[in-house]
Amino acid sequence: MVKVTIDGIEIEIPKGTTVIQAAEQAGIEIPRYCYHPGLSIVGVCRICLVEIERMPKLQVACYTPATEGMVVHTNTEQVLEARQAVMEFLLVNHPLDCPVCDQAGECWLQNFYMQHALHDSRMFENKVKKSKALQIGPNVMLDSERCILCSRCVRFCDEISKSNELGIFNRGDRAELQPYPGTELDNDYSGNTIDICPVGALTDRDFRFRTRVWYLSETESICPGCSTGCNINVHHNDQRTYKAGGSRVSRLKPRYNPDVNEWWMCDAGRYGFTHVDADSRILAPTRSIGEEQEMSWGEAASEIMTKLREVISVHGKESVGVILSPQMTNEDLFVARRFFRDGLGLKHIDFEVAPLTTGAKDDFLIKADKNPNTAGARLLGVGARQGSGMTVAEMLEAARKRKLRALYICHHDLANGFAVDVVEEALTAQDLVVFQGPNTNSTSALAHYVLPAAAFVEKTGSFTNYAERVQMIHTAVTPLGESKADWQIFRSLAKEAAISVPYFEAEDVFQALTAEVEAFSGLPYAGLAGQGIALRDGQALPESETVVA
Ligand code: SF4
Ligand code: SF4
Repeated sequence: MVKVTIDGIEIEIPKGTTVIQAAEQAGIEIPRYCYHPGLSIVGVCRICLVEIERMPKLQVACYTPATEGMVVHTNTEQVLEARQAVMEFLLVNHPLDCPVCDQAGECWLQNFYMQHALHDSRMFENKVKKSKALQIGPNVMLDSERCILCSRCVRFCDEISKSNELGIFNRGDRAELQPYPGTELDNDYSGNTIDICPVGALTDRDFRFRTRVWYLSETESICPGCSTGCNINVHHNDQRTYKAGGSRVSRLKPRYNPDVNEWWMCDAGRYGFTHVDADSRILAPTRSIGEEQEMSWGEAASEIMTKLREVISVHGKESVGVILSPQMTNEDLFVARRFFRDGLGLKHIDFEVAPLTTGAKDDFLIKADKNPNTAGARLLGVGARQGSGMTVAEMLEAARKRKLRALYICHHDLANGFAVDVVEEALTAQDLVVFQGPNTNSTSALAHYVLPAAAFVEKTGSFTNYAERVQMIHTAVTPLGESKADWQIFRSLAKEAAISVPYFEAEDVFQALTAEVEAFSGLPYAGLAGQGIALRDGQALPESETVVA
């Protein structure tokens, strides 16, 4: 450890810490453009210059290691003058685009100009012209005139995605960021370059010009795109309504978690929220026997329970199959378990439709299992492999032979794991098929009752990722139409069946879960916010272990 003093604050830091990091620990923010804690240090933008006692010239804070006894000043006249000079230099050829630039409101050129420069331009010459609104990949637009050549995006592609698409070509005021000839910025993580670009040079094709950032609210959540469970912020525009002004969710941004995704997320997860406000959303409980008819929750719960009881009384409990989903939260699955297994005494409960580890994967963040809560489902014991009930494949086979007479299916499109004719034959042979989920699909089209479940941005709960880290999602936007969290739907049905499900909030469910399920025992609900809690001291499990129950 070494002791340093920054702006009069003495702190002790590990040897090797740089001045910019030490200042952060002291609560002092030194402006930066090229420096990013997740990338190598290049020290090219010079905005982080500071004064260090006994050093003749100003030093870059990002590159300089803090050493024992060092005394640093980040706010002297000399520092402020240098910072202003750097800003003036960066703005020499910068276009006056702010009113039409999509980065306005989250641009560090704008912000630092207001905080550290506020100079009047001394330039009368024409600015250098470069390419504008250039699509350099499926997700990213480049405006070269706005680029300050910090090289963050280049280093990201070299060091993190390791795809090496970008370079800086030419010299002096002709220097320009471009993809290498014959390539484009097309890798599984390309959207991160937009996040780390400190100015409006790289913008998101999916987001640009849809809304101004100051209209957005931010809610912490977890990406449901795979079992990594990258920490994200959901950016939502609360003035928008379903179908009236486009999507209520404007974008997903990665949220820093050193134990999961650091600063990054993949493009599939980033752009994977279009189902939330899609036309396929189920808006009300519906009876699809004969003519399709919307119902109230009370009518739906009463009719479904009456029919379920009929099936059970005539054919027995063994004639009902329940297919849950690893897209559901721990809370959803726990209440499903309480209702179907403990309350109704059903045996055939499973959650795995298609093999879970066959999707695309890499050795960074992307996992083959495209579900956020497979580990949670396994720990809650709702898989057929953990009990003595049928697997989903066995249920469909039994349904075709009319050994099963009722199926309750949550979220899945069974056509993703089985031949369409097999699914059709099995479902049409049933006395009762209930589908519950946020969106319609080919399975819901064959159900007698379709129940609207809230999407992941419309409910609060927790997922357990592949490494058994329990992390929270929060309600960002109101559930559409009549939709409710899955656990609330099970609660409505349980009430009809006089089965006790005494929970009013997701937190109540979580408290019951930690009291009943040993793997979750003692987890504090409040401690889950932010970065979650690892059940096994953060030891990552091999992916296959999270699947086999
Ligand atoms: S495009 Fe953005 S991140 Fe890339 S070098 Fe230019 S300013 Fe930096
Ligand atoms: S790696 Fe997985 S969890 Fe992370 S953003 Fe991509 S899909 Fe989502």
